Amino acid sequence: MKLHEVYSKRIFGEHGIPIPSGDLARTAPEAEKIAKKIGFPVVIKSQVLVGGRGKAGGIRVAKNAAEAKQHAQDILDLTIKGLPVRMVLVDKAADIKTEIYLGITNDRAARKPVMMASAAGGVDIEEVARKTPEKIIKCHIDPLMGLKSYQSRDLAAGIDLPREHWAAFGKIAFGLWEAYQDSDATLAEINPLVITGGGELLAVDGKMVLDDNALFRHLDLEELRDLDVDQEAEIRARENGLSFIKLGGDIGCMVNGAGLAMTTMDIIKLFGGEPANFLDIGGGASADKVAAALEIILSDPNVKAVLFNIFGGITRCDLVARGILDALEEVKTDVPMVVRLVGTNASEGQQLLKDANMETADTLAEAAQKAVAAAKGN
Ligand code: GDP
Ligand code: MG
Repeated sequence: MKLHEVYSKRIFGEHGIPIPSGDLARTAPEAEKIAKKIGFPVVIKSQVLVGGRGKAGGIRVAKNAAEAKQHAQDILDLTIKGLPVRMVLVDKAADIKTEIYLGITNDRAARKPVMMASAAGGVDIEEVARKTPEKIIKCHIDPLMGLKSYQSRDLAAGIDLPREHWAAFGKIAFGLWEAYQDSDATLAEINPLVITGGGELLAVDGKMVLDDNALFRHLDLEELRDLDVDQEAEIRARENGLSFIKLGGDIGCMVNGAGLAMTTMDIIKLFGGEPANFLDIGGGASADKVAAALEIILSDPNVKAVLFNIFGGITRCDLVARGILDALEEVKTDVPMVVRLVGTNASEGQQLLKDANMETADTLAEAAQKAVAAAKGN
């Protein structure tokens, strides 16, 4: 889950990182009021979960109350990369001398968090990584040991940060590491971290991505979720306790278990098909859950066939078969379906499906081949 700039910076602030004073506004008069309280100049920033807000006209500096109100209104009227601007952050404008980059993310290959710094801040860091990777200095953080002060000094030296800023930089690096860990984040990023005319370091922009699987430990943060960025299908899947990710292919998959779902997607590809989604219905697989999952899968107009791959351990296959048949009573569809059931009470389940004229398969390979053929109209 992505957090808005304003919330990311508040978390940074709680961990001792200097941030500009500012507040959120949902209307132009509100923005004007906040601006007057903070003092001019202020910067008015659209809160939308996409990059490149500045280029889209979503960030403007205001020198007086009238400008603050007008800019806020103009920005609130914008739609940036398909997302409506529903709120703006009004921040005290910083007197920016230098822009640097500081961020932490998970390095899956190294199985460790990695802290990255660059003197090329303020710009798209992915672009820097592509074109001039040597401008990004990295250090891996041992998750048990935490960030060490020699590492923050290495980063400061690596980006040629003048010596007088090392102490402030170190404090910010530690704050960012703490914020990253405490929030179960997968990304915590300050871009730009600026050096002001007065020689202070300040986090002007902030971005955090939180691990969805740890959100149960952060119910206060979960409340900050912006539903505008989520696909309708993803919202419904979450409400029904399903793990769902939409993909580009045309074979809908309904599977119990994440590993089995991955395998199912691999086998579909092996036989020349493309999965339309990842979907783990989890244990139980009651008729309600199957129906909800089926509706979500079929809401994708690209889906030309659906493959059920169910392994009955504690889950009984005959109950799943009944769940599928009940779900099909609720969700009327012409999309061809192939069901593979294996495990507890599989033969009873298969029989129920055959009696209802459903296509079944004994092995996953057979099921995948049938689904691929069905999707191609054969
Ligand atoms: P992003 O484009 O969505 O990443 O938004 P940022 O918050 O990073 O802002 C983009 C750019 O706007 C920064 O790199 C700065 O150059 C400029 N900017 C943002 N806030 C201020 C500010 O307070 N003062 C000044 N002078 N420029 C700012
Ligand atoms: Mg930025």
